[in-house]
Amino acid sequence: LLQTETAAYAAANPRSRALHEEGTNLFGQVPMTWMRMWAGGFPLGFEAAKGNRVTDLDGHELVDLALGDTGAMAGHSPDPTLAAIRRRAQDLGGLTTMLPTADAQWVAAELTRRFTVPRWSFTLSATDANRWAVRLARLVTGRSKILVFGHCYHGSVDETFALPGPDGTTVSRPGNVAPPVPLDLTTRAATWNDLESVEEQLRHGDVAAVLTEPALTNIGIVLPEDGFMSGLRELATRYGALLMIDETHSFSAGWGGATTAWGLQPDVVVIGKSIGGGVPIGAYGLSEELAADVMRRTESGDADIVDVGGVGGTLAGNALSLAAARATLGEVLTREAFERMERLATDFTAGVQDAIDAQDLPWSVSRLGARAEYRFASPAPRTGAESAAAADDELDAYLHLALVNRGYLMTPFHNMALMCPTTSEADVAGHTAVFAEVTAALRG
Ligand code: PLP
Repeated sequence: LLQTETAAYAAANPRSRALHEEGTNLFGQVPMTWMRMWAGGFPLGFEAAKGNRVTDLDGHELVDLALGDTGAMAGHSPDPTLAAIRRRAQDLGGLTTMLPTADAQWVAAELTRRFTVPRWSFTLSATDANRWAVRLARLVTGRSKILVFGHCYHGSVDETFALPGPDGTTVSRPGNVAPPVPLDLTTRAATWNDLESVEEQLRHGDVAAVLTEPALTNIGIVLPEDGFMSGLRELATRYGALLMIDETHSFSAGWGGATTAWGLQPDVVVIGKSIGGGVPIGAYGLSEELAADVMRRTESGDADIVDVGGVGGTLAGNALSLAAARATLGEVLTREAFERMERLATDFTAGVQDAIDAQDLPWSVSRLGARAEYRFASPAPRTGAESAAAADDELDAYLHLALVNRGYLMTPFHNMALMCPTTSEADVAGHTAVFAEVTAALRG
């Protein structure tokens, strides 16, 4: 089956293939190095995208369920965002000034309404936001380490490429550079859904912040069990560490991300990707108390080194990003849009589950608001390691290609589908029919 789909993909996409072959020696042809391993041997090159549709170089229009790995959760080039970009770039001008705009204030106030923490700073990506917030966590706690969970992903932040090792140790994981950045001074790793493993690490008293998503989303969706997130809050407070919630992907959980949907109480919230409607932006928000602490330390000079150089950037908070974010949050990713997207994702999940049941496959499907993902394991994995063990490269490749060949683009490798404001009921029903067909073919 995989061979048939691979041959069909190659035959249908000569221009995408040529683009890839001409560019294979070029860095930067794909945004991340692992994307060179695209199913079928080459990625689709794209010509145009609007809403939840992508037109590839060979002229096929696909229903986009990958949506830039959530970067386009607002849909591609939403009209209000385009209008704001045009106004800023064409009419007002001033793309980089290092001066504040009223848009920045509006977006900060909106993020406060949505994610509860009130003191926001802007960056160019979620990776930057994590990096800079970690620096502040070190400043206020006087500690160097962060605690992360095995199989987490928070961007290309050196300290996070870690796994829990034997006997409470922390070891490097694929993704770290070689030779690996030594983690002894920077990182402790624990196991998702295992509060004992978290406490074992926090007990050393050297962790500045627990950095976590509300659900793991980069190794399939691994949801928190009841009491896990509140347990993390309690343990972080007890051991003097900050709780940093990275909502970059879990923004799909609702208008105010999982923070508001689940009533979480973070000290820091990190967000990025979709809030700019496709224009690069990230942000981190601090609790009132934490922001006051940072200000006090930087103003009074009571730490050894207080000028927090390297937090912030020349293009961070630029006028274009903030204009786009204002329009995207204000007019596209609204409460109503989230309600609709979540309803569609519920239908999507039900369709996938029906196909799994019909073929009696040992798979599961999990949902995080507007986003759904299936794993080749049932029941759904509880930890990052369990979810990693459920990976199957051949199945991934088959499903990815079979769906692309039939007009549906999902995120390769982790079988993720996301709804955006222009995804329709018909798109979801179409996917359900195709998914039923390609899983039935597996049973042959
Ligand atoms: N945080 C999480 C949870 C992510 O999944 C990612 C990227 O996938 C990032 C941060 C980094 O985002 P970016 O690559 O846009 O900086």
